[in-house]
Amino acid sequence: MTARIIDGRARAAQLRTDIKTAVSAMQQDGLGVPGLAVVLIGADPASEVYVRSKLRATQEAGIESFSHHFDDTVTQAELLAFVHKLNADPSVHGILVQLPLPAHIDKLAIINAISPDKDVDGFHLENVGRLATGQSSFVPCTPLGCLTLLREELGDLRGMVATVVGCSNIVGHPMAELLLKDDCTVLIAHKFTRDTAALVRQADIVVAAAGVPGLIKGDWIKPGACVIDVGINRVPAPEKGLNADGTPKTKLVGDVDFDAAVTVANAITPVPGGVGPMTIACLLLNTVTAFCTQVGREQPANLAA
Ligand code: NAD
Repeated sequence: MTARIIDGRARAAQLRTDIKTAVSAMQQDGLGVPGLAVVLIGADPASEVYVRSKLRATQEAGIESFSHHFDDTVTQAELLAFVHKLNADPSVHGILVQLPLPAHIDKLAIINAISPDKDVDGFHLENVGRLATGQSSFVPCTPLGCLTLLREELGDLRGMVATVVGCSNIVGHPMAELLLKDDCTVLIAHKFTRDTAALVRQADIVVAAAGVPGLIKGDWIKPGACVIDVGINRVPAPEKGLNADGTPKTKLVGDVDFDAAVTVANAITPVPGGVGPMTIACLLLNTVTAFCTQVGREQPANLAA
């Protein structure tokens, strides 16, 4: 068997086109455009790359973006005051504070200061609680992207056994909640799980989000399973040659041993080109949802979950 490769890039491009069309229609109806504020603190190169690509995607969709960059000497009080200012700004419908934050800032205090109605990352305690109790909420973008791919691939997920490897607040835990909400039987593995392989072997759906390259072996996968690989790991790739300083070039790989899993699974996401592009598309989707709620407009039908 060779698994179908789930093309997250193509699906994300489609979603972004639908979002752009919906935003343009709402603008023509005189509702204005959604606005997303992105707050970056410090000079972490990976965060800078993420923020740049989020801002580019936002602009391409016709969403107004407000980019705010603070030095890593900013105090917690200054940051809190700024978040409150964004909460009160009617042109800002979504607020994203790029993580990680410098050590002297209390991450949870900042996240929980964001208005839950503008919390497009879905990290605010109120949205976490709403998701856990089956109420409508903002859902973190990466698990939302995974769920979109799974529903399109498998249709109704009811009764399926889903194993989520990793249970962070950003990916694994909300993913498990979403699968439970879709009536899956959910197994969760984490770094202290004694036999992760045994949990994965039972799964019709595997979501790998541990951040460990090649953790999920091919012979862990149940034949015919659907495998969603969230992991993004940079590893040495000597086959690509050497950098000028003599170190090997690198490549991105997921948490799944792709070459082995692709011969067993029914469908699988690649890394790169699987979940990653869906994450950004879902950020735009959450921003449109926030806008619609705030201006009292129903979510356009083609974007509804
Ligand atoms: P994290 O470090 O916060 O959490 C990792 C989780 O995996 C923890 O629950 C930990 O207990 C578990 N874990 C670690 N080693 C394990 C092992 N050997 N067996 C089983 N479980 C283990 O990471 P995160 O923020 O949740 O991210 C996970 C991965 O997903 C990373 O590679 C990250 O880069 C990637 N990621 C990708 C996207 C995307 O858009 N594709 C978005 C966010 C994160």
